[in-house]
Amino acid sequence: MLFVVLMGGPGAGKGTQARKLQESLGIPQVASGDLFREHLNNETELGKLAHRYIDMGELVPDDVTFEMVRERLLYQDCARGAILDGFPRTTAQAEALDSFLSEMQDPVIIAPNIHLPSEVLLRRLSGRLTCKKCGHVFHIEFGPPEVPGICDFDGSPLYQREDDNEQTQRRRIQVYYDQTTPLLNYYRRRELLVEINGDQPMEAVHRDLVEAIHNAIEVNATN
Ligand code: AMP
Repeated sequence: MLFVVLMGGPGAGKGTQARKLQESLGIPQVASGDLFREHLNNETELGKLAHRYIDMGELVPDDVTFEMVRERLLYQDCARGAILDGFPRTTAQAEALDSFLSEMQDPVIIAPNIHLPSEVLLRRLSGRLTCKKCGHVFHIEFGPPEVPGICDFDGSPLYQREDDNEQTQRRRIQVYYDQTTPLLNYYRRRELLVEINGDQPMEAVHRDLVEAIHNAIEVNATN
């Protein structure tokens, strides 16, 4: 089983890269933000609870977040592993994930960190457009759709996420530095962290990610 714990600040391109990796690796993307947005759209109790936090750019409490991701990881399509996008975001979540994965048979875990300076993160977050249907992310400046406002892949309308306004964006980046960057050390200490330069074209980031993941699989096989 292969678990790719995709790290990186908001706007680093985790979602885009996770979607590409899912094709290259044949394991599904599990994005906690997307799971929350699904709950929100379906107006479930969890969705209502998460809404308040998402709107403010704050993290949803660890216990409900972990339970939601755990349930998703038990689906049959995750039998060979998953690409975790946006989870874990706190040390408590990483510990809960570790104890969950310790029950799996020989999981290979790798934590690539798509690194970008904070000013670039902010530039990338503003101007971001998301497809309502498939979740593909475009950017007005860095990766515009062929037809303005329309998804290249399924023709659905693009929208700006409610939490992609400037105040919430700044808060999300701050929350990332305060609560999520300590995780980099957590994975570094366990020798699972691999730094990836996020400030290069999408295809080059993808190539570096695939190379790092294949190296991790090889190292694991020889150990
Ligand atoms: P994302 O789509 O990953 O940018 O996540 C959007 C929002 O969902 C975040 O700003 C948080 O409010 C919430 N969220 C997503 N993943 C997590 C997580 N692992 N822990 C807590 N909150 C999360």
